[in-house]
Amino acid sequence: MQDGFGRKIDYLRISVTDRCNFRCQYCMSENMTFMPKNQLLTLEEITLIAERFIGHGVKKIRLTGGEPLVRRDMSDVIQRLGRKVKSGELEELTLTTNGSLLEDYADHLALHHVRRINVSMDSLDPIKFKEITRGADVHKVLAGITAAKNAGIKVKINMVALRDFNEHCLLPMAEYCAAENHDLTIIETMPLGDVGADRKLEHIPAEEFIAPLAEKYSIEPTSFKSAGPARYFNVKPLALRMGLITPLSQNFCDNCNRLRLTTDGKIFMCLGHNAHVDLRAAVRDEGIEAVDRLLQKALKLKPLRHEFNAQLDGSAKILERHMNVTGG
Ligand code: SAM
Ligand code: SF4
Repeated sequence: MQDGFGRKIDYLRISVTDRCNFRCQYCMSENMTFMPKNQLLTLEEITLIAERFIGHGVKKIRLTGGEPLVRRDMSDVIQRLGRKVKSGELEELTLTTNGSLLEDYADHLALHHVRRINVSMDSLDPIKFKEITRGADVHKVLAGITAAKNAGIKVKINMVALRDFNEHCLLPMAEYCAAENHDLTIIETMPLGDVGADRKLEHIPAEEFIAPLAEKYSIEPTSFKSAGPARYFNVKPLALRMGLITPLSQNFCDNCNRLRLTTDGKIFMCLGHNAHVDLRAAVRDEGIEAVDRLLQKALKLKPLRHEFNAQLDGSAKILERHMNVTGG
């Protein structure tokens, strides 16, 4: 698949639920309303649509949300899509999770060909973690990460950079990741949905965020590339691989290879735009073949780049859609 700008599209992110057992302050507002359950794609629909996309050249699928592991039939989704990895039709099935239910799921994920996962953790400090997630327990997440590692799954920690909140959490996080052999990725906050906070105040460029780490360790660029937009660095002598995802301070849209399927069956071609096609209605009315037609339409809708900088400085309107709907 190619979009209108000649970019190759082979990476699908599926938000399997917009619900979550955390309420991270940069992701959700305190009182979120979620989609009615009858609007969500069923397990059957998710897997049929994913299989159709694989037929069109999707090589990697990431399951996300909301919190993917709170979905009741999630073990079936993993099992069904894991078969595609086993058969060689899919190169990789991965997951982004808050880790709180990982202890229960780690062996199941490993059994069904999930080799790598991303776990979000913005601080190791239990009080800070509780504050940013509005009530969650970091020890539960750490136990989940250990279970994943013991099951043979490679873990990458996602840490969102928040000005005047977690800059000093980076050093202990980097040292923990190095000791446990996890990768670490720093993500700049994106202005998605009203969360009741001033997005401009919480934003900090990744290069500035890592300054406390650079005081103690040497941070050297590497040529390593992944399927995503991160730029990678070696933190020496820690032997830590650290990625920076910098949607605001250093745009990476030129190499964007992804499309996103939402919980209610819409394809969004960009996290930062509203343009989308509605697959759910078409698939329910016309059958799964409708995917082929709408996919061609969606590819033409993919914009050249997001508008997060303009949204942050107030010259463009912030999107109403929160991150948990499109899937991070
Ligand atoms: N619940 C899972 C989790 O937290 O890993 C998966 C969904 S979450 C939306 C995916 C990723 O998006 C997480 O790493 C989270 O920290 C990040 N995220 C959420 N809202 C964000 C925002 N406004 N800007 C940048 N990253 C965000
Ligand atoms: Fe839930 Fe993930 Fe959003 Fe946090 S970032 S509220 S864990 S979906």
